[in-house]
Amino acid sequence: MWSTYRALVFALVTASNVTPVHVLEFCQSTDPDCHSHDGKTSNSRPPSNSVKHRWDVNASDLTQFRVTCKKLIESFPIDEVDGDFVRTVRNCVFSKSIPTPLKGPLRLAAVSKDVIEEILDLDVAATQSEDFLLYASGAKLLSGSVPLAHRYGGHQFGYWAGQLGDGRAHLLGQYLNRKGEIWELQLKGSGKTQYSRSGDGRAVVRSSVREFLCSEAMYFLGVPTSRAVSLIVSEEPVLRDQFYNGNVKTERGAVVLRLARSWFRIGSLEILSESGEIDLLKKLLNFIIEEHFSFVSSDDPDKYLVFFSTVVNETASLVAQWMSVGFAHGVCNTDNFSLLSITIDYGPFGFMESYDPNFVPNTSDDEGRYRIGAQAEVGLFNLEKLLVALSPVLTQKQQKHAKMILRGYGDIYQTRIHRLFKAKLGLLGEEEEDNYLIALLLKMMEDTRADFTMTFRQLSEVSANQLRNRTFTEMWALADLSSHKLSSDWINMYLLRISRQQSDLDRQNRMKSINPRYVLRNWMAESAVRKAEMNDFSEVALLLHILSSPFVTQDAAEEAGYAARPPWWANSLKVSCSS
Ligand code: AMP
Ligand code: MG
Repeated sequence: MWSTYRALVFALVTASNVTPVHVLEFCQSTDPDCHSHDGKTSNSRPPSNSVKHRWDVNASDLTQFRVTCKKLIESFPIDEVDGDFVRTVRNCVFSKSIPTPLKGPLRLAAVSKDVIEEILDLDVAATQSEDFLLYASGAKLLSGSVPLAHRYGGHQFGYWAGQLGDGRAHLLGQYLNRKGEIWELQLKGSGKTQYSRSGDGRAVVRSSVREFLCSEAMYFLGVPTSRAVSLIVSEEPVLRDQFYNGNVKTERGAVVLRLARSWFRIGSLEILSESGEIDLLKKLLNFIIEEHFSFVSSDDPDKYLVFFSTVVNETASLVAQWMSVGFAHGVCNTDNFSLLSITIDYGPFGFMESYDPNFVPNTSDDEGRYRIGAQAEVGLFNLEKLLVALSPVLTQKQQKHAKMILRGYGDIYQTRIHRLFKAKLGLLGEEEEDNYLIALLLKMMEDTRADFTMTFRQLSEVSANQLRNRTFTEMWALADLSSHKLSSDWINMYLLRISRQQSDLDRQNRMKSINPRYVLRNWMAESAVRKAEMNDFSEVALLLHILSSPFVTQDAAEEAGYAARPPWWANSLKVSCSS
């Protein structure tokens, strides 16, 4: 049987002209060594006894809830110029900036129970108060709170854009939770800051619904990401030319309260390096290493190199994980690439439907710079920029080493993607031909425009017997795939490969636990947005609920058609940078 398998693979490879998996360029590791800044940081210490009583039960109001920017303020020089008027800022990492309350009645449109309870130690009842509405929209600060806007720069669409910074976001402070984790809470859409440039400091309902839903959905898919606490919508008019065609419309302002272990980005270091503020660059690096890369010793002469190497490794992992769920970020600028390698700044993202390496989610990206198939390469471009930013603090020898580390990025990515796609196909062990099996499947998907998410999901749900007998015609994505002239041969090859594994049920279960049945498709988000714009938040709630268990078949999701063939109008939807 083994020789039949190899012969089959050989014949198929020759017939299909498919090279080993470079098609989708690359596998997120479940290897704990690859997540060196997770769980091993100084953040993981147990909470001190003095504050422990606070966490006996989840609090049902905000009276005891405290966040603080104290550590950040004490660690860095703060912008010395008073007032948050727009300007070029120097010699600091943060500026003090007060949120501007949104006008008109506020509505709590959505809240993530998981974040409220598991991260913020609150009871979800606490979100029903007026206090929460004011706090989570920027209208009220908790006592002692000094909100900050972060100064950063970035390479946008390949070019240095100079100072960017938090132009519509306010860091409310850090929260130490009962698990000993420190989380940074940030408002997005909360008004102008020193960094607003020509912007109005606001975010509209549509982009806020999308960020709220997608960041939570990504978390439940297992992809490292910022999280969202709540979404508050207002009656404040906000003008937007959604497709940059002169058609300016009045939309409404909204605020997402979001959180991450850290909001520092590649651009946080770039701005300091570009402007020659090298002492401050070192200070920021030392802080990030101490807080988030605590396995790196502060007196290690190679600490910046080890930091760089970790970011290279983790960025490769993150991008591979995006690819494994068909996620295209849309705006992979260096200011949107986290130093902790989590997904941040959700804008014109998209989940690929029909498999297409040229899928571009952002209609403003004319050249397709950030098409899904280019994300790995763009990750490398961003890491090159990180290295440029780090160069002033590296010796000649360390710079040489860093370049070598960068040259290893492609291999790390390949290894990750290979492992991920092998798991998506339920393949155990390592066989030489696995690459071909994966690559040929992707090629067939590309040729037949089969749906990425559902092809893998239906391969998880179909039994070997059904595959053998070709009795899967009601599975729409597999049906599309089977129109390919090589599909029958591929199925035979796959059946032979999985026949050498123990139980088919085990394969199905493993595959079902990593191949989602539901992702936030554009049309789903759009439908929820349209309702939210009319103050009906039921679909936002439904999507949040369903996407919190993306691997479990759910009646409500099936009724809503979330695993069905996308509706006819899905294809014509467009998402731009406007937000
Ligand atoms: P983004 O493309 O959303 O990552 O934003 C890029 C930069 O533009 C960041 O510095 C943002 O803070 C800033 N920005 C985007 N939209 C606005 C806005 N409406 N008002 C002020 N700044 C904005
Ligand atoms: Mg951004």
